Amino acid sequence: MRHYDSIKRVMVTGGAGFLGSHLCERLLAEGNDVLCVDNYFTGRRANIAHLLDNPNFEVMRHDVTFPLYVEVDEIYNLACPAAPIHYQYDPVQTTKVSVHGAINVLGLAKRTKAKVFQASTSEVYGDPSVHPQKEDYWGNVNPIGLRSCYDEGKRCAETLFFDYHRQNGVRIKVARIFNTYGPRMHVNDGRVVSNFVVQALRGEDITLYGDGSQTRSFCYCDDLVEGFLRLMASGDEVTGPMNLGNPVEFTIKELAEIVIELVGAKSKLIYKELPSDDPKQRQPDISFAKETLSWEPKITLKEGLVKTIGYFDESLRNE
Ligand code: NAD
Ligand code: UDP
Repeated sequence: MRHYDSIKRVMVTGGAGFLGSHLCERLLAEGNDVLCVDNYFTGRRANIAHLLDNPNFEVMRHDVTFPLYVEVDEIYNLACPAAPIHYQYDPVQTTKVSVHGAINVLGLAKRTKAKVFQASTSEVYGDPSVHPQKEDYWGNVNPIGLRSCYDEGKRCAETLFFDYHRQNGVRIKVARIFNTYGPRMHVNDGRVVSNFVVQALRGEDITLYGDGSQTRSFCYCDDLVEGFLRLMASGDEVTGPMNLGNPVEFTIKELAEIVIELVGAKSKLIYKELPSDDPKQRQPDISFAKETLSWEPKITLKEGLVKTIGYFDESLRNE
């Protein structure tokens, strides 16, 4: 029996990952009871080690492709490898994590009447032919390519969220997250910010895939987590899908140059083959989030990169 009914019990799947660990930290700081569920596929215990002494924090090793029976008030479903090299390592498992994982958290939400948040992605827009991307754009996704396990898995998860909502009245919050970076990204996860920062700190050449003219819009993790909390706290009529990301767009070459400048590195730019289905441009239209949640990112790319560089610098020294 619970003696403190005002404390919310919040479950975070993928809680030991990059974004999940920042979310757990923030939820604890707000006074919630947090259950972190993770199978450590790409997450690490080190990401949540500093939270373990908190009596409101509990960790469970569990694979979300299997059902889970717990009592909770809110669920954030983040479990899924997010970096292309990680989700392409075992693509069948990636689709299972998205689809079976969604079915399991939605079933749990249906039984417990919990609100449930889905970490969807800008990848549902594929290689977009509409720019910037708004939520009503249906996307341009290859169903059979190397990125499809992730893109189509996340699209199917969105379908499940909306069908559970319509069919069973489950309260859903679907966020489409655009490229987010910050401390606790995996040194080897292959995503562009961690790659460039680590290469610059090691004095290695910076690997630009293609000619570096493709664009992305980079959001710092703290800004994104603020958006998560505001979306979860919004009225039940706000289901999403809602774009969450930083709308300031950069070419990948510009990002490389900024990282080199901030690190003070002597790294050269080298050009490698562009991976298949690599989107040419990506920029969120966040007017829906602005209007509904009064939310927009506050941390500039340079400010966020300085914090991220500090984190990787320390991690590499301890290697
Ligand atoms: P991450 O790889 O650091 O985190 C994913 C977490 O999920 C890890 O802790 C991993 O161990 C866990 N996980 C994977 N499979 C699992 C399973 N079967 N059962 C339980 N746990 C499992 O990646 P991240 O960047 O923190 O991404 C978190 C979520 O946000 C993902 O769902 C991702 O698709 C989404 N997202 C992230 C970004 C971004 O730029 N970081 C962009 C769009 C969407
Ligand atoms: N990229 C790059 N060099 C790297 C890693 C990535 O040029 O070392 C490019 C990649 O081809 C893509 C962009 O950076 O165009 C963002 O890649 P990331 O894997 O971070 O995320 P995506 O948005 O493609 O899922």
